[in-house]
Amino acid sequence: MAKCNGNFLALQSNYLFSDIARKVAVYKQANPDKKVISLGIGDVTRPLVGAVIRALHAAVDEMADAAHFRGYGPEQGYDFLREAIVEHDYKARGVDLAPDEVFVSDGAKSDLGNFQELFSGESVVAVTDPVYPVYVDSNVMSGRAGVYADNKWSKIVYLPCIKDNDFVPDFPETRPDVIYLCYPNNPTGTVLSRGALQSWVDYARREGCVILYDSAYEAFIQEKNVPHSIYELDGAREVAVEFRSFSKTAGFTGLRCAYTVVPKVLRLGGGVDVNALWNRRQCTKYNGCAYIVQRAAQAVYSEEGQAQITEVINGYRRNAALLREAMREMNLEVYGGVNAPYIWVNVGKGKDSWGFFEYLLQSAALVCTPGVGFGASGEGYVRLTAFGSPDDTLEAIERMRRLA
Ligand code: PLP
Repeated sequence: MAKCNGNFLALQSNYLFSDIARKVAVYKQANPDKKVISLGIGDVTRPLVGAVIRALHAAVDEMADAAHFRGYGPEQGYDFLREAIVEHDYKARGVDLAPDEVFVSDGAKSDLGNFQELFSGESVVAVTDPVYPVYVDSNVMSGRAGVYADNKWSKIVYLPCIKDNDFVPDFPETRPDVIYLCYPNNPTGTVLSRGALQSWVDYARREGCVILYDSAYEAFIQEKNVPHSIYELDGAREVAVEFRSFSKTAGFTGLRCAYTVVPKVLRLGGGVDVNALWNRRQCTKYNGCAYIVQRAAQAVYSEEGQAQITEVINGYRRNAALLREAMREMNLEVYGGVNAPYIWVNVGKGKDSWGFFEYLLQSAALVCTPGVGFGASGEGYVRLTAFGSPDDTLEAIERMRRLA
């Protein structure tokens, strides 16, 4: 009988969202008259904007016409989209990239999960704690994580992001080879200032590490001193890969389009060219993002598309600001929610994440996400998201005010 890859058997079941669903189902059964509002949604709720819908229709019509039909596209993405990305997301911010440093894909999750394949099995991986679980689990699948005990993997280097360090990770005692950084952060909603990110770039250059920089929530940045791209920092292109997505920027969670930037100057030990390696990997295992989806993504960069997505993002930002305020009125410490759609709430001395989850559910029929589900350093926090509809968010806030 064929044998299973044992690394997959080492994976820990993530019960966070199923536990939440089970507790909510029990509550609903006991309280059929109560309307439960979820502040735990990690998905967008507003539909695709008009410019994107029009581009989709036009591309579908092209596919129906033999003269314009497109079959397999370039694995790395069509030039029209790679050029638009370079122009709007980078050149406009003073970063000079070539289109062939950009790899279009069907999602940042797949790229983040897949990228670790390029590193040796012995590579030491560092993640922030709390953490977006994909970084950890994809390394467990590759056998780099070691043994699991007490909410931690023995070979993974954890960088706690806690109140005491202002949610800015300190350099670790053990030198890692690969460092995952996610800013604006999921789940804490916090950001790194230009100075803090520069010091991580400098650290990576000094120590010979590669930074995998996930900026899936870049579109939510509002404050001036917060870099939108790691390549705004000196020397970053020699040490960093950047992951971006149209999911939260333009509501593409169901459509699927993202991109990864792999600078041509980035090298691994022995002078290995990472751009060439990723290109080889993608050409072997991936056949490209759908043409119609790439046309839709291109439309995000049109003047009309930019105005429309800004309006949608501003709506989520308003939700975030209201949620922050409501939590403050409950005398709770609140982090994030200014440059990100996530709000990280300290539930107070002596209380735990699940206890607060139960309190909000039982007393106000509101659902949040217990922070401990994102890692040991998330204990004592819950995550709220700004992705709900404006009406639901306002009603949730009213209910919180009654609790205050
Ligand atoms: N990175 C982070 C931090 C996320 O929170 C998410 C989605 O929730 C993703 C990446 C995935 O993005 P995509 O929809 O492009 O796969």
